[in-house]
Amino acid sequence: MIIHNRNLEADPSYRERLHQYEHDVNARMAAGFKVAKKKGPMKIQVVVHVVYKNPDEKLSAAQVKSQIKALNRDYRAANADKSDAPPVWTGLVADAGIEFVLATKDPKGKKTTGITYTKTTRDEFGDDDSVKDPAQGGVKPWNSAKYLNLWSCNLGGGLLGYAQFPGGPATTDGVVILYTAFGTTGVAAVPFNLGRTATHEVGHWLNLRHIWGDTPDCSGGDGVSDTPNAATPNFNKPNFPHITCNNGPSGDMFMNYMDYVDDDTMIMFTPQQVVRMHSALAGPRASVVI
Ligand SMILES: [Zn+2]
Repeated sequence: MIIHNRNLEADPSYRERLHQYEHDVNARMAAGFKVAKKKGPMKIQVVVHVVYKNPDEKLSAAQVKSQIKALNRDYRAANADKSDAPPVWTGLVADAGIEFVLATKDPKGKKTTGITYTKTTRDEFGDDDSVKDPAQGGVKPWNSAKYLNLWSCNLGGGLLGYAQFPGGPATTDGVVILYTAFGTTGVAAVPFNLGRTATHEVGHWLNLRHIWGDTPDCSGGDGVSDTPNAATPNFNKPNFPHITCNNGPSGDMFMNYMDYVDDDTMIMFTPQQVVRMHSALAGPRASVVI
C-alpha cells in the first residue's frame, strides 16, 4: 500500500487507470463473468532476479523452481491443504486457472533459464524499489509487458515482500520477495516456507486487495463480495471463527491468500477474486499471457 499510495501521489493518470480497471471489474461481475475455462489455463512467463550479497542469499535453481511450483499449486487450487477450509467456505475455494512458467527466452530472444543473478554490495533493501535499479545495487526488470518479474533479495524492516498493482510504472513493475520467504526449499524458513508470500504478492500484481480493505474500521472493502468484510489483518494461525465487523457467525476469511497469516494457514482464493484477476489478465495485464 505504501508503493500504491506513492504511485497515486506521483502519477494522476495511475489514479485514472485504476478507476477504469474497477469499472471493468464491475462490468464483468455484473455480466456474471466466471473463470475462463475454454482453452485451459492462462500461462504467464516469469523471470526471477536473484540479488545477493551473502552466499545464502544466492538462491539455488531448485529453490527458484520450488516457487514456480508453489504458485502453480495455489493458482490451480491443487494445494492439499485446501481441505482446511471451514465447511461453510469449501464451496468458495476457486481454481484461478493461471499457470506460471520460467521464461525460456530473454528479451533479446536468447535462451535463458529464466533466472538472473546479480551480486550487490548492499546488506538489505527496502520498499523503495531500489532492488530494481542498477544504480542502487539492484537489477532492472525485463520488459514488464511480457514477463512477470520476481526479485529475491534481503529485505529489511521485517518486510516479507511487496508488489505493484496493474497500471503503475513499467520500470518498477513486478514483485519483490524476501529470500527466506521464497519457494519451499533451500533457505526458505518457517513460517513462510510454502511459497505463499509470492502467492499473496502476485495476487496484488493481478489487482487483488487485502481482504480487510486496508482500513482499520470496517469501512474499506476489497472489491469482491464473497470475502466477508474484516476489520484488520490476521497474523499467525488464528482460531476459527474470528468475528469482526459484524461478520458472524463465520467471521473473517483469514485463510484467504490475501490476509497476512502464516503460509500454512492461507489456502484459498474465492471465485470473485478470480474474476478480478481475470479482469486484469483481459485488460492491463493481457500482454503477459503467453
Ligand atoms: Zn499484501
